[in-house]
Amino acid sequence: MAFYRERKLWNESIEAMPRDELRRLQLNRLRKQVFYNYQSSSYYRQKLDEVGARPEDIKTFDDFARIPVMTKDEHRKAQEESIERYGNPYALLACAPREKIVRINSTSGTTGTPTLYTLTQHDVDVVNEMHARKYWRAGVRPGDVMLQALSLSMFTGGLPLSQGIIYMGACVVPVGIEGGTRRVLDFVRLTSPSAIIATPSFGQHLIEKCPELIGKTAKDLGFEWFFCAGEPGGGNPEVRKMLASGFGAKVFDHTGGGHAFHGISCDEPPDQFSGMHFVSEDHCLLELVDPSTKQTIELTDGAVGEMVFTFLDWEGGPFMRYALGDMLKVYTTPCPCGMPGIRFKIIGRADDMLIVKGVNIYPEAIHSALLKFVPQVTGIFRILLDTPGPLVKPPLRIKLEFGQDVGEEDLPALGKKILAHFKEHVRVAPRFEWVPHGTIPREMKKTKFIEVAS
Ligand SMILES: [Zn+2]
Repeated sequence: MAFYRERKLWNESIEAMPRDELRRLQLNRLRKQVFYNYQSSSYYRQKLDEVGARPEDIKTFDDFARIPVMTKDEHRKAQEESIERYGNPYALLACAPREKIVRINSTSGTTGTPTLYTLTQHDVDVVNEMHARKYWRAGVRPGDVMLQALSLSMFTGGLPLSQGIIYMGACVVPVGIEGGTRRVLDFVRLTSPSAIIATPSFGQHLIEKCPELIGKTAKDLGFEWFFCAGEPGGGNPEVRKMLASGFGAKVFDHTGGGHAFHGISCDEPPDQFSGMHFVSEDHCLLELVDPSTKQTIELTDGAVGEMVFTFLDWEGGPFMRYALGDMLKVYTTPCPCGMPGIRFKIIGRADDMLIVKGVNIYPEAIHSALLKFVPQVTGIFRILLDTPGPLVKPPLRIKLEFGQDVGEEDLPALGKKILAHFKEHVRVAPRFEWVPHGTIPREMKKTKFIEVAS
């Protein structure tokens, strides 16, 4: 039993597999998956037919890259067409017979019709395995209690994540965020969790509110781990430091809900971030493409592109070359932490990218830059656009809050200092519109940094 607990990886034979062996496993599974998708779904059949390919023609990763990517809009269209023709949203995309589908989840997107993920029991088992791999790497073991303070509803990180924790033998308290901050704090008192899973913004909210709500600091809650999910931030050194000192906890960023793309960051100091280790390569083929042309970008160390994923050894809704709009930077060199696998950083959403005077800017970069000036600013901000991006007519307008102890007379000098930092590090000269501390609403689920005037 002691040996089992000390093991560093949940599934050593897969997670520490030599790269060439893993690539062979992927290719094998990919070829089977293409056959399966082609036979079981008219949508995927059409995708291959469009480029005149038959499943047996797909012999290499390069052959596979000829199949056009699928976007979220196409996903929505296929759902709608499916409802019209077959009376349910997944008939066109799901490849398993209906009686084998046991779970439907949706992504956490805040705009438009939700896009659905359909899973069989086999797929649910795969997802559980991936959650186990992630938390095990972070050091969570049976006996630990994990408080799930994310949106529980249809979000792929809700129920699937809770089930994954149960699967690895730890204890989950799925309190969710829907009941509000007080309810989360009630359950901390009642269950003494050693870990919390939440958005970084909710973490910041707890740090700010704990003294007022319970007369204690967030540090007194006793968390050993803070797992960031649901929004960017967990990879931002300033956010990591804020959470680590606020909670006195180790901070991990992780991603992956009820589907096949999963990653978790390393056990490292909060002021560092080496990316997230990709833990599900045996069930997910990752590719990068240029966000505008959708041409393949080779997965070399430091490569940047839009993420495209394909589920492998998957039955229910096995997405093929799905481009969700996330921009990734990939690292293929061994990680200093010693854990195996390639790593990635999520840079931002391709949709959120702004172009100011030819410079590409992601809201995350602005967030990062502003956090360097906490507590003179709160770090809460909005980018104000007159028309939707990506092209922005300069100057870029940023609404931001000044800190509690800052007076209005200090703002010109503070603004100058921040502007100089922006010019040097973000390569943009924004116009700041100051508002007092607490003016901008705190989002608990997913923060939208961009506001478009309508
Ligand atoms: Zn690492």
